[in-house]
Amino acid sequence: MRMRSYQVCECGAPLRLAESETPTPQGTQVLMKLLAAGVCHSDLHIWDGYYEVGGGKKLNLIERGIKLPLTMGHENVGEVIALGPDARGVQVGDVRLVNPWIGCGLCKVCLRGDENLCVKPQSIGVYAQGGYATHMIAPHPRHLFDIGKLTPREAAPLACSGVTAYSALKKVQATLKDEPLVVIGAGGVGLMGITLARKMGASAVIAVDIDPAKRDAALTAGATRAIDGAAPDAVKQIQAATGGGAWAVIDFVGSSQTANLAIASIIKGGTVVVVGLFGGDVTVPTPFLPLRAMTLRGSYVGSQNDIAELLELVNRTGMPQVPIRTRPLDEVGAALGDLRAGKVVGRVVLTAAG
Ligand SMILES: [Zn+2]
Ligand SMILES: [Zn+2]
Repeated sequence: MRMRSYQVCECGAPLRLAESETPTPQGTQVLMKLLAAGVCHSDLHIWDGYYEVGGGKKLNLIERGIKLPLTMGHENVGEVIALGPDARGVQVGDVRLVNPWIGCGLCKVCLRGDENLCVKPQSIGVYAQGGYATHMIAPHPRHLFDIGKLTPREAAPLACSGVTAYSALKKVQATLKDEPLVVIGAGGVGLMGITLARKMGASAVIAVDIDPAKRDAALTAGATRAIDGAAPDAVKQIQAATGGGAWAVIDFVGSSQTANLAIASIIKGGTVVVVGLFGGDVTVPTPFLPLRAMTLRGSYVGSQNDIAELLELVNRTGMPQVPIRTRPLDEVGAALGDLRAGKVVGRVVLTAAG
């Protein structure tokens, strides 16, 4: 059986189609035939090879251990087609979501349950070969999750945008039901955040985005109000809409501008969770931390438990109202180009033909 994959061979250069023999799974590995692979904004950073970290500085991903050629794609649902001799718990024919946020399984962070924060990350589609391909290897069956009644194209985005939003929402759960939640950025992950927030019991979600099309999408996804983040009085509008300042703001963009907007919009004792990796920096006067009793924290993808909880939540309450468009695998380059041009509302999922 032949395998086709689209690889980054040089940072920022067009992906190259590679053909090879389908790998034979070793040890605990599982060979999957890809059914759906979501296209994520973070692929643009991986492809470019860096994150902006403010002040014109870059965080170089090759220096951080990403090796080329790399097949990106970390939102994958596939069908099990072969098992390594030590792989237990799945069978040929099973359709599974692959948790890409995997670690060594042995370090202190992994053993605490946060494999996504492993000190030696081995994330699929980032450090290991991902799903912009006809086939992929999952290193261990523990990372494979039953999608229940969801279809592969529905389930795929849950592996990154879904779990990223869910894990961030868990960090503001204390005020979620009773106080308006502010969500900055209504791209793929932000829309997921809005709709999951409602499913988790949020009574009011205020979406902030500079793009009117994304504000409309946010309202359709369940936001109770949408505010233009570029308005000169955006902070005042958020404070008015939250009755004096937000208890919780999730920044799904992560630029200097959005993080500063988030920090300015909270009430004393409020929390800002930064999720987006757009890049930038913030300066917070240290007295603000005690005087405003503020919490500024980050959230990075999600844990094995988060994925299990999210699948349970979505199977019980229905799929998030995020528009999903499918495109054939061979259009991966065009799909990434559209994403970079800001032309995608919701999520694009690739399906391998044949
Ligand atoms: Zn992603
Ligand atoms: Zn680890």
